[in-house]
Amino acid sequence: MSVAQQRLLKTSIPGPRSVELHARKARAVASGVGTMLPIYVARAGGGIVVDVDGNQLIDFGAGIAVVSVGNAAPRVAEAVQHQVAEFTHTCFMVTPYEGYVAVAEQLNELTPGDHEKRSALFNSGAEAVENAVKIARVHTGRQAIVAFEHAYHGRTNLTMALTAKNMPYKQGFGPFAGEVYRVPMAYPYRWPTGPERCAHEAFAEFVALVHAQVGEQNIAAVIIEPIQGEGGFIVPPPGFLARVASWCAEHGIVFVADEIQTGFCRTGDWFACEFEDVVPDLITTAKGIAGGLPLAAVTGRAEIMDAVHVGGLGGTYGGNPVACAAALGAIETMRAEDLGGVARRIEAVMRPRLVALGEKYDVVGDVRGRGAMLAVELVVAGTKDPDPALTAALAAACHQQGLITLTAGTFGNVLRFLPPLVIGDDLLNEGLDILEAAFAASV
Ligand SMILES: *Cc1c(COP(=O)(O)O)cnc(C)c1O
Repeated sequence: MSVAQQRLLKTSIPGPRSVELHARKARAVASGVGTMLPIYVARAGGGIVVDVDGNQLIDFGAGIAVVSVGNAAPRVAEAVQHQVAEFTHTCFMVTPYEGYVAVAEQLNELTPGDHEKRSALFNSGAEAVENAVKIARVHTGRQAIVAFEHAYHGRTNLTMALTAKNMPYKQGFGPFAGEVYRVPMAYPYRWPTGPERCAHEAFAEFVALVHAQVGEQNIAAVIIEPIQGEGGFIVPPPGFLARVASWCAEHGIVFVADEIQTGFCRTGDWFACEFEDVVPDLITTAKGIAGGLPLAAVTGRAEIMDAVHVGGLGGTYGGNPVACAAALGAIETMRAEDLGGVARRIEAVMRPRLVALGEKYDVVGDVRGRGAMLAVELVVAGTKDPDPALTAALAAACHQQGLITLTAGTFGNVLRFLPPLVIGDDLLNEGLDILEAAFAASV
C-alpha cells in the first residue's frame, strides 16, 4: 500500500494549507455544498487519508461507505488506468461495450435470489432510486410509492419526496413529487411500547395505514433500506423486512430494497437483505459498487425490469466504461479478499468496545448496526432525548485527534462508523481509543 498505514498529526486540524484552500472554496464554491471536516485531501489508501498539510487521519467514513475496497485500491486503479487509455465514453445507448454487460452480469449473480434478473446502470444512487420507481410504475400500472420514516433515498426531486428528513435535505426545495406516502419505521430503540413489540406492531401499523390511506391496489412499490443509513443506522427487528416483502408479494406490489449504503459487503454479506434471506423484487445499489467512481444500478426480476419499453431507461453517462471497469475491479477485490468476512471481523473488534462505552456512559442510548456499519445513538443521560450537541462535540473531538467520523440520524444524535473494509486492526483499535478518549473528555 503506497500510503503509510499510520496516524500522523503534523499541524492542528485543519492545518494552514487546508485553511487556505477552504478560504478559496468559500469564494468559489456554492455555500450550499457543505463540508464536514475541511481538511483538503492529497492522497488516501487503506484506512488512512492524507491531507495537504501532511496530516494522516484514520478513516472511519470511507467517503460515506463508498471506498469499501480502500481508496485507490490496486485492482480498481489498474482497471481504470487501462480503460481510460482505451476509450472513455461512447454512450452505452449509442454504441455499447462489454464492461457494462459484465457489471450487469455480476449484479445479477451477486444480488439475492436465484430468479432470472436484469440490471440497468446509472450515475448516482438517487438516479437508481428514481429509475426503480419508474420501472415499478410501468410494471404495475400503479402510481403510489410507500417509504418509511427516517428514510434517505437521495436529493433529486422524487428522492427528496422519498427522503424523510427536512433539514438539510428538503428545506425550501419543494414542491416535491406526488404519490409518495410515509409510514412509521420499525425502530426498536424508539418504539413506544418497547423493542420486543416493535416488529409485530410496526408491521400491523404499516398494513393498517397503507390500507386506510393509500389502498394496496394503488401501490406500485414499497421502498426500504434494510438498515437505514442517513436516518441513523436503524436496524429493523428480525422478521419485519420479511413480513413487508411477503405482504408486497401478496398484493402485487414491487418490494424495493435500497442497498445503496448497505450493499457490497458493508454489513458482512454481499447485501444486507441476505441476513434474513429476504429476496427483494428490485434492489438499488451505488456507493460501494465501484471503489469511488460514480456508478449506480437497479437490479431485479427480469419480468419487472423488462416491462419498460425500449429506450425508456438510460442517460448519457449511465454505466460509463471507466466506472464499469472500476466496479469490476472492486467486485474482484471483494471476492478475492472476502470483504464480507472482513466486515464481520471488523464488527467483532468494534462492537464489544462500543457496547463497553454504552455500559460506561449513560449518554449512549443504543449501540446498533451490522458488520462494518455500526453506530451509537446519543441521548441526555437518563432519558431518550436526542443529544445532537454532544454528538457534534464528540465528532469534533475525534476530528481534532485525526479520526474521521460521521454523524447521522433524524435528530442528528448518531455517531456512525463506516471504515474502509481494508483497514487494519491496529488502526481500527487506535480509532476506537480516540473515540473513548473523546467520551472521557466530553461527557
Ligand atoms: C447515499 C444514498 C442514496 C443516494 O445516493 P447518491 O449517490 O448520493 O445520489 C440513496 N439511498 C441510500 C440508502 C443512500 O445511502
